[in-house]
Amino acid sequence: MTIDFQKVPTPCYVVDEELIKRNLEILRSVQDRTGCSILLALKGFSMHALFPLIGEYLKGITSSSLFEARLGFEKMGKEVHAYAPAFVEEDFDELLGYVDHLVFNSFAQWTKYKEKVNSLTDKKVECGIRVNPQYSEIATPIYNPCYINSRLGVTLENFREDLLDGLDGLHFHTLCEQNSDTLERTIQVVDEKFGPYLKNMKWLNFGGGHHITRDDYDVEALVRSIEFMRDKYDLQIYLEPGEAIALNTGYLVGSVLDIVENGMEIAIMDTSAACHMPDVLEMPYRPNIIGSGQPGEYAYTYRLGGNTCLAGDIIGDYSFKEPLKPGDKLVFCDMAHYTMVKNNMFNGVNLPSIALHSKERGLEILRTFGFEDYAGRLS
Ligand SMILES: *Cc1c(COP(=O)(O)O)cnc(C)c1O
Repeated sequence: MTIDFQKVPTPCYVVDEELIKRNLEILRSVQDRTGCSILLALKGFSMHALFPLIGEYLKGITSSSLFEARLGFEKMGKEVHAYAPAFVEEDFDELLGYVDHLVFNSFAQWTKYKEKVNSLTDKKVECGIRVNPQYSEIATPIYNPCYINSRLGVTLENFREDLLDGLDGLHFHTLCEQNSDTLERTIQVVDEKFGPYLKNMKWLNFGGGHHITRDDYDVEALVRSIEFMRDKYDLQIYLEPGEAIALNTGYLVGSVLDIVENGMEIAIMDTSAACHMPDVLEMPYRPNIIGSGQPGEYAYTYRLGGNTCLAGDIIGDYSFKEPLKPGDKLVFCDMAHYTMVKNNMFNGVNLPSIALHSKERGLEILRTFGFEDYAGRLS
């Protein structure tokens, strides 16, 4: 069943449940073939209305804060893992109530919290340390955890063999939207540098950034990488992708509010790059719009701008077969991940509603936002 975008009140994120299921099936097949555990990284996608569904396929979630851990615990109720650059002392006792795995970013953090973890009587929380293998193939520094002087993970030079007692696993996260050839090369480096310490570990977490559900992703090389580490050191392997779960599963529908002219035609939208799709500015990238072309490809070219006062709130330049006019709806593609988890109410611009489209129930608007949400986070 196709989605009738004309019926969607704008702005609105629309996630297609069938497309989520398609991704989850691919991920489940990797679990089934290798025995690995795949977790949803809430950082990339936290649409909790779908957590029960996601929990039918994946083993749980991973979080990087108290709130993410609690959301995963309450809304999915399967495994909850947590890693943070540093854990906040006031949050830690509550966090322990939610998690099964904790990954520390430094040996100082591990030393600081070790006693607390070990003194738990009602459950066992397995602990690991994040390492920085100082190998990555990411061109954008802001997304590169191995960039020079990175704060994320312990380098081999700073690794403390003397403090490993009580640790069950290692974790690395060095990929971003990458295929499995990068993973294969990364695994080699991790093995060379940290292999000696993996011998006594129970698990190894490969982090996120695996673009497993992308059309050209080489699942066979992923399976080989998992099997290699699994068998060489007798490890349980975890993967914690965010983006791969929600890749190409959702849209952001916006409407044209006005057309202005300044050297070219500029359409002002009721949605915003700065507020609703911040990665468009941060990465930066140009999202696809259904029925549009590159500038000049079709007869009518427009620059699309957001409805904030930020001069740079520009989504990109696009061409269309027909002229745009106020009221026209435009559908931005691949807007499920790193959008609703990152959006903001800068300039008092309201947030897009969140909708789900499913085969059984059609389009459902799950959440709308209003003045209370805006005022409620200020004082
Ligand atoms: C961001 C992040 C993830 C998820 O990354 P994706 O690119 O969304 O797959 C997983 N683990 C850690 C530690 C992260 O920082």
